[in-house]
Amino acid sequence: MSRKFDGNRLLVATHNAGKLEEIRELLAPFGVSVVGAKEMDLPEPIEDGTTFVENARIKAHAAAKATGLPALSDDSGIEIDALDKQPGVYTADWAETGDGRDFKMAMTKSHDLLVAKGAAQPWTARFCSTLVLAFPDGHDEVFAGIVEGQVVWPMRGVEGHGYDPIFQPDGYDITFGEMDFDEKNRISHRADAFRKFVAGCFD
Ligand code: IMP
Repeated sequence: MSRKFDGNRLLVATHNAGKLEEIRELLAPFGVSVVGAKEMDLPEPIEDGTTFVENARIKAHAAAKATGLPALSDDSGIEIDALDKQPGVYTADWAETGDGRDFKMAMTKSHDLLVAKGAAQPWTARFCSTLVLAFPDGHDEVFAGIVEGQVVWPMRGVEGHGYDPIFQPDGYDITFGEMDFDEKNRISHRADAFRKFVAGCFD
């Protein structure tokens, strides 16, 4: 049994405005008031974990400790099987240029490595999202969501963000980059993790 969230204020340990809005909308039906890390002037902790769970825990516990509020964090990325599940927790790092993030570069790197390895197709892969709800007393609850699919080339679509143009979910012949926003949000790794979070922590 997961510990229930029984307060009315939840801190979302992210500086990403998009993620914050998504979570705020999702929790509105439960009468939860959501506050972001930026509004609370929280520093961004160093994410030096080697798994999604470790990084999500670092973010959620740092925020819960600093504010005394229950804090929710999300860590996500793509695992490409033929690349030994890389980039994984380093998904955002592969796009780092020193002057902002370049996801076209990161997607090209993923494709070029697959070709260099002579990896057989389909290039199976999955998006992963791990949510951690940390309580100020140090307790936490962890919820992992995934969506299975494959890496395709060339990039297709202009919707979404990150690696969406090269990820085709199982059962579809379009990429996340070509998919309608609402449809992606129904089947995504984050939606999967959120369903588990809501089922576990809310009545
Ligand atoms: P973090 O969770 O903010 O550390 O970063 C995760 C990275 O994974 C993002 O920068 C994106 O590049 C990638 N990512 C996570 N979810 C998605 C998605 O739904 N579509 C495309 N890329 C994603």
